[in-house]
Amino acid sequence: MKKVTMYTGNPCSFCAAAKALLKTKNVEIEEIDIWADPANAKEMLQRTKKQKEIMFNEGTERPFSSDLLRESRKGFYHCANCGNKLFASTSKFDSGTGWPSFSEALPGAFKTKIDYKFGMKRTEYHCAKCGAHHGHVFNDGPTKSGKRFCNNGLCLIFRPE
Ligand SMILES: [Zn+2]
Repeated sequence: MKKVTMYTGNPCSFCAAAKALLKTKNVEIEEIDIWADPANAKEMLQRTKKQKEIMFNEGTERPFSSDLLRESRKGFYHCANCGNKLFASTSKFDSGTGWPSFSEALPGAFKTKIDYKFGMKRTEYHCAKCGAHHGHVFNDGPTKSGKRFCNNGLCLIFRPE
C-alpha cells in the first residue's frame, strides 16, 4: 500500500470533486520531511497543520486566504506533499479569483483527469509523482499558453531561488 500525505480540501468552488476523488484512494498517510533545510522546517510544519485541518475537518481554503497570492519572488512552487517541482514563478499571475494561478506547469509535473461534477466539464489535475490533488486547469488564461491553473495554495510550497 502506498504511503502518502493526502490533502482532500476543496480549495475553490471548482475543486469539490477532489475530495470525492481522493476518498477513493486507499493510501496510508505519513508525514514526509520535505526539506532538510532548517530554514524551511518551521514553515513546513505550520502548513502541515493547516493541511491536516482541511483533510480531517472537511475544511476549505477560502479565496484570498493563501499567503502565496502575495508571493512575487523568483523561484519554484513545489508539491507540499512530495516536493515535486510544479510551477516556475515566471508562470504565476494574478487571476483575481483569490487562488494562486499559473499560466503553465513544468513539463510532466501533473496528470489530468476530466470530471463532470456540477454539470460542467472540467480538467482536474494532480501531482504526477504522488497523486495529490492540486486544482483545475481552465482554457481562459491571459497569456499565450491560454491556460489558467487554479491551484490550492495549501498544496504548494514556494522555494525562492
Ligand atoms: Zn506531489
